[in-house]
Order: sequence, then structure tokens, then C-alpha cells
Amino acid sequence: MRLILMGPPGAGKGTQAARLTEHFKIPHLSTGDMLRAEVAGNTGIGKKAKTLMDAGNLAPDSMIVDMIEGRISKDDCRGGFILDGFPRNTAQADALSAMLGTKGLALDAAVILDVDDEALLARIERRNEENRKAGRAVRADDTPETLKTRLKAFHAQTRPLVAYYEGKGLLKRVDGMQDVNNVTADLLASLKHRQAS
Ligand code: AMP
Repeated sequence: MRLILMGPPGAGKGTQAARLTEHFKIPHLSTGDMLRAEVAGNTGIGKKAKTLMDAGNLAPDSMIVDMIEGRISKDDCRGGFILDGFPRNTAQADALSAMLGTKGLALDAAVILDVDDEALLARIERRNEENRKAGRAVRADDTPETLKTRLKAFHAQTRPLVAYYEGKGLLKRVDGMQDVNNVTADLLASLKHRQAS
């Protein structure tokens, strides 16, 4: 199963990806997590990405595409993977399609988690609160101000991928406003439907 999870910041992609990983026994590849690890390690990539990330803007396509290309070539991705946060724009989607094509592979589905913009701020605030309570670091880009920039980037650059994948017959829509368990159930049902067809 080679799957893309799309949705605005705070839509619950990370939570759902963790559940799908468990279900399908395939890795969850989050470009945001990969970049945060680079930032934490103070690597060259991390240094370049940090300012852009903190401001809520996208990192350069070439950096992300190289990172993903390296990652999906690893052995644990042979049985598939769940992409979370990638692709973020049409150029990245084209690059993904090309890199899979050279390996003789194809995507199975691209899921959009639909969540109203108004619900996202509350969700991000809840995530911050949970992280604080658990003694985990609060993300520098999870502020109301930065969320606005991230949402703008989502609508301008990532949202067009819905039509992109619809055109390829790969799109699955899931109502991300529901209770988290119902979102998982709908997600799994939409993917089963794909497997049966
Ligand atoms: P996320 O954890 O997916 O919300 O990503 C956090 C931040 O990492 C984003 O706001 C971007 O700055 C950067 N980022 C993550 N994935 C990508 C991507 N595919 N392309 C460009 N920037 C990305």
C-alpha cells in the first residue's frame, strides 16, 4: 500500500498515519518530522529549513524531494509507505510520480482529510496543551499567527493536489471533522474499497 495523506495543518494526519502504520505494517513518512529531526540535529538541512518552518513557509522542493527519495529507497518501504506532509505542491507530486515510475511503482491512493479552517486553530491549541501536559516540546510553528501562514500555503499550494489526484483516479475524501475513531474507520473503509475495485 503506497498512500498519501493530505490535509490542512491540524487535520489529524499524524494521528491517522500512526493508526494506518499499525494496521498495514508499513512506515509512516512525515516530511515535517524528518525536517524537525534535522533541525534538532543542527544539520545543514536543518539550518536551511528552520527559518522557513518557523515562519510557516514551505522548505525548498529539491531538499524535500531528495529527502523522500532517499527514504523510500530503504528496505522498510518495500511493502509500501504512508506519506504525511508530502507532496505539498504540484512540483513535488510530479517528482514523486517520476521517482516511483523509475522504480516501476505506483501510488494506491491519495486521501484528503477535510476539516473546516475554523476548527483548526482549536485543534492546534489542544495539541499544544497536550504536549505541554506531557512535558513534550511545543512546536514553534503551532502559534495562531504561524497557523495562518501555514493555512495560506495549504490552500494556495497543496489544495490543488486534490484535483490533481482526482484526475488520476486516486483520490479518497474523508470527513476529518468527525470523532478520531470514525475518521480512522472511514479511512480504512475507503482504502478497502480501493483494494476491492
Ligand atoms: P508538518 O509537520 O507537515 O506540518 O510540516 C511542518 C513544516 O515543515 C511545514 O510548515 C514546512 O515548513 C515544512 N515541510 C514539511 N513538509 C514539507 C514539504 N513536503 N514541502 C515543503 N516544506 C515542508
